[in-house]
Amino acid sequence: MNEKELQKADLVPNVVYQNDKKSPNTLSALLKTRDAYCSSPVQGGFRMLRVEGNSKRHAFLALVVSQDVRKPASWNDTINGGILTYDGDNDTPNTDVKFTKGNKYLDKIFADDRLESVDVYPIMFFKSTSKREIEFVGLCFPLVNGLEKSEKDGVHNFRANFYIDQKTVVTKAWLTDLKEGRWKSSPHAPQSWTDYICDEMPEIWDADHAMVEPRTVLTRTTQIVFRRGLLQTQKSCLICQITDERLLIASHIKRWVDSKDREKVDPHNGLILCALHDRLFDRLLITFSSTGDLIVSKSLSRTTVEQAGLIAGKHYPGLEPFQHYLRIHRKRFDTNERL
Ligand SMILES: [Zn+2]
Repeated sequence: MNEKELQKADLVPNVVYQNDKKSPNTLSALLKTRDAYCSSPVQGGFRMLRVEGNSKRHAFLALVVSQDVRKPASWNDTINGGILTYDGDNDTPNTDVKFTKGNKYLDKIFADDRLESVDVYPIMFFKSTSKREIEFVGLCFPLVNGLEKSEKDGVHNFRANFYIDQKTVVTKAWLTDLKEGRWKSSPHAPQSWTDYICDEMPEIWDADHAMVEPRTVLTRTTQIVFRRGLLQTQKSCLICQITDERLLIASHIKRWVDSKDREKVDPHNGLILCALHDRLFDRLLITFSSTGDLIVSKSLSRTTVEQAGLIAGKHYPGLEPFQHYLRIHRKRFDTNERL
């Protein structure tokens, strides 16, 4: 693409953008919305773009993982099950974890009250292999309690966990609105961003949720992130294969109330089930064996079992990664059967 095409191009997840120019700066061209610019964009780390005419407000952040920049071997950035684990950039021994600008950003981004503050901005995640080539990976959202501290050989650093939305296209129209300070009111904002900042709880997120008072916006964010994450890998109800997302529930295997924060967002602690099969699973009327076979409660009548499309002993492949949590579910199921 030439410079002009890049300036007009939408950001499509997992698309690699190339610049034809002799001395190209692809990210800079890509993020140029009107006359905005992006400073030193080829290096890894955070690049912040400011709102036009307001040097104090951020429009959005670009988080770039560059393969040119060497980080200590023990630090790495990985994407697993829709979760990005990103190591901060402090490598100076005996300094505060917030020694670097990048780590100061991380601290701010993960602050508990961030959604109530005015300093909330979208983060676009890129992977760069050279000045010429850059891949847009997706919009990323900080996970609840997603910032951990680490210490090695006197070096204090952060390890940050983000959920990456790899489905949503970021349009130039939205970027332009952000540059003009319309981060809340843009009609071009993608759904995942609106969900993130909005106050309304969608009706069906998680069956367990009925038992939990939505304490803060962050609770809701967790639910949204959990559901989105699961839907990236599980496209339909495990049991009946129904795919209409309005009928699908991100069901925690280990109950929400029993789960630690990390477990609440762990993609292996969730199954996508339709409303009916979620209820059966949630009420301990079905579970899965250690080999992935369906176990049906004795308390269900033969008619109900048939009507619900359940086949006791039917094998469901691919459940191995979920077994850690399924073991806990089976225990509760067994206790319930004995009552
Ligand atoms: Zn179903």
